[in-house]
Amino acid sequence: MFNKRIKIKELLASEEANYEATVMGWVRTFRNNQFIALNDGSTNNNIQIVAELGKFDEALLKRLTTGACIKATGEVIASLGKGQKVELKATEIEILGDSDAEKFPLQPKKHSLEFLREIAHLRFRTNTFSAVFRVRHALAFAIHKFFNDKGFVYLHTPIITASDAEGAGEMFKVTTLPLDGNAPKNDDGSINFAADFFGRSTNLTVSGQLEGELAAMAFSDIYTFGPTFRAENSNTTRHLAEFWMIEPEVAFNDLEDNMNLAEAFIKYVIKHAMEHNKEDLEFLAQRLEEEEKQKPQQDRSELGLIDKLNFVVENDFQRLTYTEAIEILRESNHNKKKKFQYLVDKWGVDLQSEHERYLVEKHFKKPVILTDYPAEIKAFYMRQNDNCEPGRQTVAAMDILAPGIGEIVGGSQREERIDKLLKRMEEMHIPAEELWWYLDTRKFGACPHAGFGLGFERLVQFVTGMGNIRDVIPFPRYPKSAEF
Ligand code: ATP
Ligand code: MN
Repeated sequence: MFNKRIKIKELLASEEANYEATVMGWVRTFRNNQFIALNDGSTNNNIQIVAELGKFDEALLKRLTTGACIKATGEVIASLGKGQKVELKATEIEILGDSDAEKFPLQPKKHSLEFLREIAHLRFRTNTFSAVFRVRHALAFAIHKFFNDKGFVYLHTPIITASDAEGAGEMFKVTTLPLDGNAPKNDDGSINFAADFFGRSTNLTVSGQLEGELAAMAFSDIYTFGPTFRAENSNTTRHLAEFWMIEPEVAFNDLEDNMNLAEAFIKYVIKHAMEHNKEDLEFLAQRLEEEEKQKPQQDRSELGLIDKLNFVVENDFQRLTYTEAIEILRESNHNKKKKFQYLVDKWGVDLQSEHERYLVEKHFKKPVILTDYPAEIKAFYMRQNDNCEPGRQTVAAMDILAPGIGEIVGGSQREERIDKLLKRMEEMHIPAEELWWYLDTRKFGACPHAGFGLGFERLVQFVTGMGNIRDVIPFPRYPKSAEF
C-alpha cells in the first residue's frame, strides 16, 4: 500500500512522541540544508522535517524546493524548536513531484491577493487561501447539518430553466443553435427557438426559488444549495457571475418565522465555523488586522474578525421596517450634509448599498433585518401587506444586511392568494401562461409560506473577513474572466 500517511494536522496534535510516521505534502521552505517545512492542506501549520546533515544525498537535497511534493518517513520526536511540539526526524525522503524553483510562481513571501487571483490554480497552497477554503467547506457542511437536523429536504433545482419570471438579474442564454448567423429564424427575423435543443429559449438559473416553492407544498420544509448565474456586468467586490445560493422555503411560515429561521441559521453556521476552524479564523483575523493597518483610521473596522463574529452570534439582529429605515436615513446628518451619493428624500426609493452600510455600520452597528419594502421595488411573488396607507403598498419582504457586506439575505413571505398574485403579475407584465405550474400551487392546496436566499460567497466573505468576493470562491467568474 502506497498511502499509509498520517495527516499533518493529526500528527501535530499528537501528545506523545517516539513513534514512526509517514507524511506527504508540499514543501513550503527548506532551510539550512536540513529543515523542511511541509504542508498537506490539513492545517496551516507545517510539520518540520529534519533531514540530518550527511544522511541524505546532495542530489536529493537539491530537489527539496518550494512547491515540490514529497513523502517523508521518520520518527516523531519532541521538538526543541519553538512553535511546535513535535517534528519528524527523517529516515527516508522520496520526491513525488519536483518543482522548478526558478519557475514556481509562489515564493515564500507575501504575494498580493490580486496576483494570487491570476494564479488561482496555485493559490490553494498559500496560508490565506487554504484557510479561506477550509472555512468555506466548514460553512457548507454546517448549512447541510443545520437543515438536516431540522428535518428539511435538500432539493436539487434545475440549472437550466426556461423561466425568466423572477427578474432577479440578467441571464446567460443556453443554446445549441449556431452562433454564426445561421440559426433558424422566424418570419419576423427573430431566432426560432422551437428549433433549439429544448424546443424553446433557455437560460442558466438565477434562483431556485420558484421550483423550491413547489416542493415546499409537499415536504413543508425544503432548502436548495446550488450554483446560480447572473450576467450582471457589475465589477464590484460583492458580485459574481456564478455564485452559490442557499434557498430554504417553508410552508406555514410567515414573515416573522422566516426572520427567525434566517437569524438562527446564520448564527448556527458561524458558530460551527468558530468551533471547528478556530486556527484558520485566528489566522484570517491576523491577516485582516494587518490589512486594516494600511487603511486610514476612519475606514478601519472597530472590531477584529473574531470579536465581530462573536458579537453577531451573541446579539439579536436589529429588525425594522423599510419605512422606519427611510426616516432614519432622511434625518441622518449624513443625508443632511449630502454625504450620500444618492440622497434619501422620499418614501419609495430603493436603498443603495451606501444606505444599507450606513444603517448597519454607522447607525445600529449590528446586522439589520429590513422588512416591508414598497411593492414597487420588489418581486411579484412577495406577499402584499394588508391595511397599507393609501399609495404606500408594501410587501412582506425581508433583507438581512451585514456589516462590511451589505445585503446577505433576501427573502419574503410569498403571496399565496391567487387573485392578488395574478393581479400583481399582470401589473408587472409577467405572462401567467408561462408560469402555469407555479400558479397551480395556488390552486391546489395553497398555504402561507415563506423563504429566503442567502448568497453563500457573501457569507464566506463575512466569516473570513475577505474584502473581495473573488477571493472566497475557488475559481471566480466575473466579467472578462473565466480562466481555469
Ligand atoms: P444585490 O442587491 O446585492 O445585487 P440582489 O437583490 O440582486 O442583491 P437577490 O436576488 O435577493 O439579491 O439574491 C439573494 C442573495 O444572493 C443576495 O442577498 C446576495 O447574498 C446574493 N447575491 C445576489 N447577487 C449576487 C451576485 N451577483 N454574486 C454573489 N452573490 C449574490
Ligand atoms: Mn443584484
